[in-house]
Amino acid sequence: MERQLYTARLAASRHLSERTSHLTFQVVEVPRFDFQAGQFISMKALHEGRELTRAYSIASGPRGDNRFDLCLNRVDTGFFSNFLCDLESGSEVKFHGPHGYFVMKQPVRSSIFVATGTGIAPIRAMIEWLFASAERHAGHEFWLIFGNRTEQDIYYADQFQTLAREHQNFHFIPTLSRAGEGWSGARGYVQEHVRALAAGRSDLDAYICGLKEMVILNRDLLIKELGWERRSVLYERFD
Ligand SMILES: Cc1cc2nc3c(=O)[nH]c(=O)nc-3n(C[C@H](O)[C@H](O)[C@H](O)COP(=O)(O)OP(=O)(O)OC[C@H]3O[C@@H](n4cnc5c(N)ncnc54)[C@H](O)[C@@H]3O)c2cc1C
Repeated sequence: MERQLYTARLAASRHLSERTSHLTFQVVEVPRFDFQAGQFISMKALHEGRELTRAYSIASGPRGDNRFDLCLNRVDTGFFSNFLCDLESGSEVKFHGPHGYFVMKQPVRSSIFVATGTGIAPIRAMIEWLFASAERHAGHEFWLIFGNRTEQDIYYADQFQTLAREHQNFHFIPTLSRAGEGWSGARGYVQEHVRALAAGRSDLDAYICGLKEMVILNRDLLIKELGWERRSVLYERFD
């Protein structure tokens, strides 16, 4: 069966860093675009006479209208990521979706979110969904361990810091692998902080997103080293 193709029109964009952009699209055909936080869409474009398709995680929770955000970085040798980062406001891109099973388990349990770089996209969507309604998060604890190189790379830092101030059950742990001397937060790679939080716990779920190496490292840490059940560890890989 043919998949339904939609048109996404770029409504707004801003730089999150030199190489990373936050884009907001509107779906032209529908007043409301439904998806589950954590899912992705498949975008299509012509390049040198060939149709290319690339997956992008939706970086916002469902808003009850036809908008969604993406968070993406330029890949040096790639076409699609640069094509999207260079889009002018009002430009249109075809896509199908939503797709994917990287969504929050039901019932929701206390959870660790683990992301590096643009891997924050589906995790931001999940966190926006969770904290949009008290009944979704009340009685549980949530930790976001967000790994980046430098302080400038901590995308959405203001949003997560504000959430942590407003909700005692949300803990934001940005960790830097190349922190400057002035950085007083966590240092090192995400897995060191995951290990410290996850050891001895069997009552949590984990949601991990980023590039392959980081995802495999943390999945193996939780399942093989710490003995977590497989079904408690959900992950999405970008490469
Ligand atoms: C389910 C899913 C969701 C995704 N969501 C996002 C997202 O929210 N944001 C996003 O930026 N990308 C995301 N990606 C990656 C995206 O689909 C493309 O692979 C990426 O934009 C590169 O495409 P390209 O055509 O520019 O380069 P290509 O020529 O297709 O890729 C070149 C190489 O870049 C590497 N690569 C892929 N993604 C990244 C990345 N994010 N950072 C660094 N290197 C990468 C891969 O090793 C790949 O082989 C997702 C991928 C999948 C499978």
